[in-house]
Amino acid sequence: MTEAAATAHPLPAEAPAAPPERDLFSKFDGLIAEREALLATGVRDPFAIVMDEVHSPTEAVIRGKPTILAGTYNYMGMTFDADVIAAGKAALDAFGSGTNGSRMLNGTFRDHIAAEDALRAFYAADHAMVFSTGYQANLGIISTIAGKGDYIILDADSHASIYDGCALGNAEVVRFRHNSVEDLDKRLGRLPKEAGKLVVLEGVYSMLGDLAPLDEMVAVARKHGAMTLSDEAHSMGFFGTHGRGVYEAQGLELGRDIDFVIGTFSKSVGTVGGFCVSNHPKFEVMRLACRPYIFTASLPPSVVATAATSITKLMTATDKRDRLWRNARTLHANLRELGFKLGTEQADSAIIAVILTDQQQAVVMWQALLEAGLYVNMARPPATPAGTFLLRCSLCAEHRPEQIEAITAMFAEAGRAVGVIG
Ligand code: PMP
Repeated sequence: MTEAAATAHPLPAEAPAAPPERDLFSKFDGLIAEREALLATGVRDPFAIVMDEVHSPTEAVIRGKPTILAGTYNYMGMTFDADVIAAGKAALDAFGSGTNGSRMLNGTFRDHIAAEDALRAFYAADHAMVFSTGYQANLGIISTIAGKGDYIILDADSHASIYDGCALGNAEVVRFRHNSVEDLDKRLGRLPKEAGKLVVLEGVYSMLGDLAPLDEMVAVARKHGAMTLSDEAHSMGFFGTHGRGVYEAQGLELGRDIDFVIGTFSKSVGTVGGFCVSNHPKFEVMRLACRPYIFTASLPPSVVATAATSITKLMTATDKRDRLWRNARTLHANLRELGFKLGTEQADSAIIAVILTDQQQAVVMWQALLEAGLYVNMARPPATPAGTFLLRCSLCAEHRPEQIEAITAMFAEAGRAVGVIG
């Protein structure tokens, strides 16, 4: 400060008052107001559902009402499998309720190894690594294998855990238009030839239930010298000859075409956890470098024991696969015939998304279904593509034919009441 300026603006005798405190929560005001406005219309909070009792993979009691579950991702209905439950109870008795911490230090138990062995057998893979959730598997693998100077090329509609994996790492991130092979090719073509590249794909995109053309995308990725990762969270157990996922159904192989498969235990496997399988000869180094694997507690023995048993049973669960596909095709055909706009032309996956354009209509219909005794997922922007509001059904192998008919009837009644169909 010059002398003249100091004279013109003498310092106040007392220190100035502290600037007004900025409430860090003010950024959420829009979200809070939107939620309050919605609840003021008298609808229930769609994101505060409590399962008071669960009787089977397809039946629960919600606020005293017996309810059909059609929004759980419990595709293969393994949550009540007698062998799975027995394995969990035995592990709880033998090893207690918790782990001591990190897999790397004191948190590896017999059944972590059993779960990784089961995954290697299921995928015919050289390596398998179990994480505490599927979210952490994406976070850990993506942020660790693609580093500074590398590129991650991902579908614009990728799951939040994929985006968060990119945010945690130091690689450059390039997005391509959802499921556009041409756009992927174009964007890969602009990247430096010598740079490391990871193309991240999903077998099934969970909002609309549509599939990726993995075969074409992998061919393009390989042409540009990129490694490939496929998140098969929504396909395990019922796509491909061995149930390995969409990549298997499209004739691709781990190692030859896909470098890393990411999956979760929270859907077809029927418990909680995440994993990555790979044939990369150096894959085991991930256990020494991957922060979301190292700096968190491992899964409890009861959980990994249930996972190991469930994965082994899924290898031969052909009856369940057949029933799941029959259920998905029947419900898709029924809802289509009723006049609903659906996320896919046919039952490409076990997710059937009813598309609505207006939040109020979506919430009112979601509530009408719940009151009738049906639980489905409501999804809204920004999770959904192109500003749509979705009522998403996920089918289960254990849905009985009469439940599929009941689900159809409830959709018909609620859809007419709300004016979505005529
Ligand atoms: N990937 C995809 C495509 C998912 O849909 C999800 C969960 N909905 C995850 C990863 C995360 O899995 P988890 O629930 O085991 O964290």
